Amino acid sequence: MAKRDYYEVLGVSKGASQEEIKKAYRKLAIKFHPDKNPDDHTAEEKFKEAAEAYEVLSDQQKRQRYDQFGHQGMNGGFGGGGGMNMEDIFSQFGDIFGGGGGGFESFFGGAGRQGGRRTRKGSNLRIKLKLNLEEIANGVEKKIKVKRYVACSTCGGNGAKNGTEMQTCGSCQGSGQVRKVVNTMLGQMVSTATCPTCNGEGRIVTKNCDACHGSGRELQEEVITINVPAGVMDGMQLSMSGKGNVPERGGVPGDLLIQIEEEEHPSLKRDGNNVIFDQYISFIDAALGADIEVPTIGGRVKITIKPGTQSGEIFRLRGKGVKDINGYGKGDQLIHINVWTPKTLTSDERATLERLREANNFKPHPGKSDKGFFEKVKDYFQ
Ligand SMILES: [Zn+2]
Ligand SMILES: [Zn+2]
Repeated sequence: MAKRDYYEVLGVSKGASQEEIKKAYRKLAIKFHPDKNPDDHTAEEKFKEAAEAYEVLSDQQKRQRYDQFGHQGMNGGFGGGGGMNMEDIFSQFGDIFGGGGGGFESFFGGAGRQGGRRTRKGSNLRIKLKLNLEEIANGVEKKIKVKRYVACSTCGGNGAKNGTEMQTCGSCQGSGQVRKVVNTMLGQMVSTATCPTCNGEGRIVTKNCDACHGSGRELQEEVITINVPAGVMDGMQLSMSGKGNVPERGGVPGDLLIQIEEEEHPSLKRDGNNVIFDQYISFIDAALGADIEVPTIGGRVKITIKPGTQSGEIFRLRGKGVKDINGYGKGDQLIHINVWTPKTLTSDERATLERLREANNFKPHPGKSDKGFFEKVKDYFQ
């Protein structure tokens, strides 16, 4: 079955705000909630479909990628949606319905979610990466220095002296969560909330580590190798999971988010995967023909101007453009010929040209093969 458009699933417009998306999802989640539709397979499918759509559209980065590449984009190498299970779905609900990030235990038969302590994720690290056209065209491996928080090497990351001076939290018996009964739109439910005594950590440090003063982490400078795929665009964001900061007192590190900045090339202009170059030639060269050199991404290349070349003609150098980011081949370089008309003339030059003014060959008489501007654009850009 073909996947439905996420916006269609939630019944919102492409330009919908985060608030509208949240509202639309909340409505659907209540309507198709398994508790309200026991043994209704269609409702369950709709419930999951809406959750998946929300997961993508509520995340700025995923949404942008989805807008650009559709469902294909979500399976790519930069982390994406798809394949949500019920556990994932219910973990979104803290955000949607308010309340302390708890699960809806009724759905799990009242037994509650196992798992106990929440694994905390550290903050993301953001950097900008400047790339030139050559690097973008073929992809590049970049080594960059970043300063990030890593686990303290003295205590191992838990913040306790020698890594051992701590005890289990008495309020939650180490689970990191406390239960409470809450009234929700779906009726009364037992919800779990983060334990306020230990902040969900399940343990309390009794003596701080001397090296990190209890934070459990230290700043480290690290050289990170980024494999930039060919064909990235200005403003695009790559992410490397686990290369961000570790949170205080243990957990999984956040991600390293790399925003691409494309440097302007001195003479080549990028148009999608094609590269455009404006070449000026004299009308002498245009009339007599000439061999000229043009810059390309891979270095200078010789092209032959045929006698009788017209201004506005476009040469195509196949495969001299940018590699497609999804692997669909390579763009071309398009060379746009502009015939240069002299702006000043010496009296000798003027006299020479005056002699040619009335020559029949110098009078324009475009034939069928001399296409106008619009036909050329149609020919080359379709
Ligand atoms: Zn430490
Ligand atoms: Zn506790």
